[in-house]
Amino acid sequence: MNNDIERVLYSQDDIKAACKRLAAEIATDYAGKKPLFIGVLKGVIFFMTDLMRELDMLTDMDFIDVSSYHGGTASTGEITLVHDVGTDIRGRDVILVEDILDSGRTLAYLQDRLMDRQPSSLKVCALLDKPEGRVVEAKADYVGFNVPNEFLVGYGLDYDEYYRNLPYVGVLKPDVYAK
Ligand code: 5GP
Ligand code: MG
Ligand code: MG
Repeated sequence: MNNDIERVLYSQDDIKAACKRLAAEIATDYAGKKPLFIGVLKGVIFFMTDLMRELDMLTDMDFIDVSSYHGGTASTGEITLVHDVGTDIRGRDVILVEDILDSGRTLAYLQDRLMDRQPSSLKVCALLDKPEGRVVEAKADYVGFNVPNEFLVGYGLDYDEYYRNLPYVGVLKPDVYAK
C-alpha cells in the first residue's frame, strides 16, 4: 500500500501537532460549554478521534454520513444523506467535523440541514481545506492545513474505499488511477 504513494504531504507528527493546535483553539472558544461534535463519515473518523482526545472538556459525539463520490476522483455534485445523527441538536453548540473541504457542496448541504434544526451555534472544523476546489461558498472556522488541488489519500481519505488506514496524508502515484 505504501508503495502506491508518490509523496507524503503530512506525517503522523504533523497531524498530531495540528490536532493539538485545533483542540487548543476549540477549548478556548468553548470554555464552559459542552460542544457536540458531529463527524462526517467515513473520512473523518481518524481525525475526529484524535482531535477529541486532545480536548480536556465534556463533549459528546455523533456522526452523519453523506455520499457525493461514487468511486473515482471527481465529485458528482449530487449529495445524498446516507445516515442521519441520532442526537437532538436543538439548542446545542455543534462543531461539524470534516476530513476535507473541496467544492464545498457537502458542507453547504450539511449546514443547511443542520441549521434547520436550530442549534445554538454551528461551527466547522476541517483537517484539510482545498480552497481552489470551491464551487459553492463554504468556509471552515477551524482548519488544519490548506492543501493544493491534488487528490489526497490516507488518514481517513480514500481512493475507491482503500488507503484510509494510511497513518499520514499523501498523494497517490498516477499509475494507481490507471489500473
Ligand atoms: P466537497 O463536497 O467539498 O467537494 O467534497 C467533500 C468530500 O469530498 C470530502 O469529505 C471527501 O470525502 C471528498 N474529497 C474531496 N477532496 C478529496 C481528496 O483530495 N481526496 C479524497 N480521498 N477525498 C476527497
Ligand atoms: Mg468528508
Ligand atoms: Mg471518499
